[in-house]
Amino acid sequence: MIAVFTLIDALGWTYIKDRPLLPDILTYRREVRTVLGFSSGAIPTLLSGKLPRESGHWNLFYYDPERSPFRWVRWFRFLPPSILNHRVVRRGIRFISQRMSRFGGYFQLYGVPVELLPYFDICEKKDIYRPGGVPSSLFDRLEELGVRYRTYSYHQFSDQEIVHTAQQDMNEGKYDFYFLYLSELDAYLHNACQDAQGVEHQLSRYEKWLGEVYETARRTDEEVVFYVLSDHGMTPKRSGYDLVGKIRELNLVMPRDYLALYDSTMARFWFFNERAEKQITSRLTELDCGHILSQAEKRDLGIDFPDDRQGKTVFLMNPGVLIEPSFFGKTAPEGMHGFHPDDPYSSAVFLSNAKPEREIQTLVDVHQVMAECADTLRDGVHAER
Ligand SMILES: [Zn+2]
Repeated sequence: MIAVFTLIDALGWTYIKDRPLLPDILTYRREVRTVLGFSSGAIPTLLSGKLPRESGHWNLFYYDPERSPFRWVRWFRFLPPSILNHRVVRRGIRFISQRMSRFGGYFQLYGVPVELLPYFDICEKKDIYRPGGVPSSLFDRLEELGVRYRTYSYHQFSDQEIVHTAQQDMNEGKYDFYFLYLSELDAYLHNACQDAQGVEHQLSRYEKWLGEVYETARRTDEEVVFYVLSDHGMTPKRSGYDLVGKIRELNLVMPRDYLALYDSTMARFWFFNERAEKQITSRLTELDCGHILSQAEKRDLGIDFPDDRQGKTVFLMNPGVLIEPSFFGKTAPEGMHGFHPDDPYSSAVFLSNAKPEREIQTLVDVHQVMAECADTLRDGVHAER
């Protein structure tokens, strides 16, 4: 038996609900509830079966000035933000921080202003598609079990190269467990999820690739378990909202009074005095573009962390309403994920050529299927011996 898991970033349930992918092969189809946040939270849940509060992986940047890989940048705070945030300077800061970090990892700064970086650490310092990237990950398990497996991701290849390389490996009978991570649909949908024709073109492209991979797998082994999964969907933009401006009106100063990270669908706040906490909280409560997540809601979403490192206050925008401008750009893209998982556009998918033993509803369930598949393959390895 060989197992092929293809993770297609941002393949939302709404896009394939009435337009099945490979309907003759992928007969089991389910809508999957995602984890609030971005791929940095959802994919670690898929890989580890743990919610963010347990895996520690949620939004990429979290408050930890003691251990920030950008601590050294504090010495340059005398420079004006316009110089610190110049494209070339930012690139240099990223390069040096990667070199200096204990993990020698690879990370992006996205749009976080350089003067704020020394307050934050990053939760994705290693390649998460390799063993040790996420605590108790699927890949650690495969390694322990001695299953012959391989992962393919953007760290090495484009989507097209992944599809081709995986097929080459299948033809040579190299592995029993294949994990393909295709990330490019996400970028497309951010730009053009409202272009029905363009989306259809993309879907048929991925459908063709999946069909080829399946056929190749079938030629090398009679028994193929074939799964297609995703981490979240993509919500079309309805409008933008200048949340940064609303907070700036309060005339509080960063980082003296508070810190804020403005993503496109949520803002996270840390306060350093009571006045700032009071004023910002009361301002956020007045707004109807979103709401502050309550403790009960955080618990339900699996983001009730034991400390405030991921934000003392998290303000989540209403589905389709984007923070504009945000740290991620002056203009928000046409589509975004990271709204409440109850928004139908947020849902991920699980498709397979056989009905799994358990009912699939969440990313944790999807992880269980992968983990059980790894166990089955290990038993196969033992039987052969
Ligand atoms: Zn994305």
